Amino acid sequence: MNVFQQSRRKLTLYYSLIMAVFLIVLVILVHQSMEWSMESEQARELVETAGRIAGGQEYLLQHPELLEDAEEWRTSSDRLFFYVFDAEGEAINFSRASTQLEPFVLDVISRWDTEAGEVAVVADEGKRRHVRVMMTAQTMMAEGEPVATVYVGKDVTAMYNGLEKATYSLACLAVFALAVAAGVGHILAGEAIVPLVEAYEKQRQFAADASHELRTPLSVVMASADLLDNDPSITSPFLKQVIVDVRDEVKKMTKLVSDLLFVARSDNQALKLKLSKVDLAAAADQTIRLMQPLADKKKIVLVREGEASLAAKLDDQKMKQLLLILVDNAVKYTQEGGKVIVRVVSPSAGRIRLEVEDNGIGISEEDKARIFDRFFRVDKTRSREMGGNGLGLAIAQEIVNLHGGSINVKSKVGEGTKFIVTLKG
Ligand code: ADP
Repeated sequence: MNVFQQSRRKLTLYYSLIMAVFLIVLVILVHQSMEWSMESEQARELVETAGRIAGGQEYLLQHPELLEDAEEWRTSSDRLFFYVFDAEGEAINFSRASTQLEPFVLDVISRWDTEAGEVAVVADEGKRRHVRVMMTAQTMMAEGEPVATVYVGKDVTAMYNGLEKATYSLACLAVFALAVAAGVGHILAGEAIVPLVEAYEKQRQFAADASHELRTPLSVVMASADLLDNDPSITSPFLKQVIVDVRDEVKKMTKLVSDLLFVARSDNQALKLKLSKVDLAAAADQTIRLMQPLADKKKIVLVREGEASLAAKLDDQKMKQLLLILVDNAVKYTQEGGKVIVRVVSPSAGRIRLEVEDNGIGISEEDKARIFDRFFRVDKTRSREMGGNGLGLAIAQEIVNLHGGSINVKSKVGEGTKFIVTLKG
C-alpha cells in the first residue's frame, strides 16, 4: 500500500511544483506590467510637463519684465518639481523639491547625463528610507545655441512603495493559493488512486487465495507420487522416470506457490515475525549441511567462516529461509569447482553481519539495481532450468526488512558476488 501513498505524495509534489512555478511567473509578470504601466504613464506626464515648462520659460526669457509675476512657476503640485539652469549653470527659475529631497535632486542634476527627452528613475539607496525620483531634462535652444536646461522631476517613492506592497500582497495570496492547490491536489490524487488500490487489493487477495488453495492439491499430488515411487509393483523404467519427473515438477510448483503466498502476505502486512533467541551461526551450519549434496554435484566447496555461535532475537524459520535463498543462489550461479563462503560475524556489539560470498558468474552493474525486484532474473532460461522463479531475492529482502536490517550486494561480472546482510543483534 506504501507504493500508492508514495505515488500520491509524488503527484502532489509535482503538481505543487508546477503550480509554484506558475504562480512565481504570474507574480513577476503582474509586478512587471504594473511597474511598466505606472512608469510609462508617469513618464509621459513628466515629458509633457517639461515641454510646457520649457515653452513657458521661453516666453519668460523673451519677456523678462514678467519674471517678477512668475511666482506661479514656483508653486507646483506637491510631488512635482523643476529647475531651469541657464548656460552658465545659474538657476533662473524653479519650483523646488521638498527640503529633504532637494540635495539629492541637485546631486542627480549635477551628474545628469541622460539623453534629452529620456526619463530616468533614480533611487537614493544610501538613506534608510529609499527615495526614488523620476526625472527628465530638456535643453532650450535659441539661434542654434543652448540657452537653458529644464529639469523636471517627480517624487515617485510613494508609487514604488505602493507597488512593492501590492506585489507583496500578491505574493502572499500566491502562497495561500499554492497551499490550497497542494491540499486539493493531495485530496484529488487520493481519490484518483482509490480504484487502483481496490484493484490491487483484489489482485493481491486472489494471489494469496489461489496460492493457499493450490497448496493442498499439490501436497496430495506429491504424496501420491511418493507412494507410486515406493510401489514395488511399478518396475518399468519409463514409468519410474515419469514419476521422478512429476515429483520434480510438483516440487518446483510447491516452491513457487509458497513463494507467491509469501509475497502476497508481505503486501498485506500479514507477515508477522515469531521472534526467539536464534543461533544464526548454527542456522548457517545447518544450511550448509542441507546444500552440501547440491554443492557436491557441482564440485563446489562450501566454507563456513566467522563465529561458531552467534545468538540474537530473530525469526528462526525466516532466517533459515533467507540463508537458503542466498546459499542456493550462490551455488546456482557459480561454475563447477567454485567456492562459496558463508560468514557470520558480529562487527560491533548489537550488530550481526551475514555474508554469502561466491566466485561465480557475478552480476552486472545494470542488473544489480533490479535483482531484488519480483520475478526479475538476469537470464530467464538459465534461472528456470535451475528451478528459479525470480522471487528469491525479493523474499530475502522482505525478510531482512521485517527484521529492520539491510541487504546489499557487491559483485563483479566473472569474478563473483557477495551478499551482505546487516541485522540488529
Ligand atoms: P532466481 O529464482 O532466479 O534465483 P532470485 O530473486 O533469487 O531469483 O535472483 C534474481 C536474479 O539475481 C537471478 O536470476 C540471478 O540472475 C541473479 N543472482 C542472484 N544471486 C546471484 C549470485 N550469487 N550470483 C550471480 N547472480 C545472482
